[in-house]
Amino acid sequence: MARIELNEIKHSYLPNPTGEQDFALKRIHTVWEDGGAYALLGPSGCGKTTMLNIISGLLKPSHGSILYDGTDVSAMQPEQRNIAQVFQFPVLYDTMTVYDNLAFPLRNRGVDKRSIRERVLEIAEALDLTQDLNKRAANLSADAKQKISLGRGLVRSDVAAILFDEPLTVIDPHLKWDLRRKLKEIHTKFNLTMIYVTHDQVEAMTFADQIVVMYEGEIVQMGTPQELFENPEHTFVGYFIGSPGMNFLDCTLDGHVARVGNIDIPLLPSLANMCTGQNLRIGIRPMYVGLHDGPVEHGIEGTVTGLEDQGFCKIVTAAFNGSEIKARISENGRVPEGKCWISLPPEKIKLYCDERLVRQGDSR
Ligand code: ATP
Repeated sequence: MARIELNEIKHSYLPNPTGEQDFALKRIHTVWEDGGAYALLGPSGCGKTTMLNIISGLLKPSHGSILYDGTDVSAMQPEQRNIAQVFQFPVLYDTMTVYDNLAFPLRNRGVDKRSIRERVLEIAEALDLTQDLNKRAANLSADAKQKISLGRGLVRSDVAAILFDEPLTVIDPHLKWDLRRKLKEIHTKFNLTMIYVTHDQVEAMTFADQIVVMYEGEIVQMGTPQELFENPEHTFVGYFIGSPGMNFLDCTLDGHVARVGNIDIPLLPSLANMCTGQNLRIGIRPMYVGLHDGPVEHGIEGTVTGLEDQGFCKIVTAAFNGSEIKARISENGRVPEGKCWISLPPEKIKLYCDERLVRQGDSR
């Protein structure tokens, strides 16, 4: 397996791009370590598939280079790059048995019969396909066919990396959870470099050690699920990760308070001192927003305008002074009726300048 480096990659599908907006990938500069499980997460059109195709060699970038273990592979064809790829839809030979489908990539590389058998049995067991090995692929369900495709991607241990492009899209929702767990187990057991494209945050979080969040052709943050949840470095990450996403309120700064309209919200002094810039917003996760029946210190007077009972928790919307905020409270938590007081603990408030997180120690 390989360490993959993307150096100053830019890509436009247009022959003569004139501005930044014409680039599907704007400036990608990153390193993915050997043996890592990475998820490329982002909304439709943010450039995930473009990035995957550039790594595999199916697409040549307009600018920049790709290195596998320090070797520049930019000029190499896909077959020379030694990459396995699994797509959204099954890619297999319908007339062959499951065993032969799984063995195919190994036979193609001239692997000896005994090693092929060992590896095929190992992967079949990991994917729960052992009982189907002698069946013809054509006679199996759509779910089983996609499992065979996954197996064909995973069967070679000598590839530089395995790339997955939304491989569970066609899988029955009940089976998805099980397959995500299996993929994770396979990753841990065989120490493979895996790159997994998805727009589903739950899928990314259960599969990956590192999540690479993409937005409008850029990587806006790479980190563990916990890092992305606790410290979103870009407002998009706060909005996209979490259910519901982070609350954001436009503000100005006045000393140690953020002013939202004519409401003052205290910040940690260490944070407020860091920023003099314009285009400011504060962000807070719904789980940290407090709702109360009566006045509390620094509480903001508001009105409950919406309640969504999700069974295991309640999402409450409260309005104040022309703004709205969401609170996530436990299933047994009390929801004020009508009038309420909203508390925002200063230590849980993040400050963003031009959509980027202001960290203690920054000065802008
Ligand atoms: P999805 O989740 O919908 O597959 P994505 O994040 O994988 O989206 P890409 O498919 O990489 O995004 O597309 C990135 C941008 O490039 C989009 O604006 C898309 O319209 C554009 N694009 C993708 N493929 C082509 C192409 N062959 N020709 C022109 N533009 C393209």
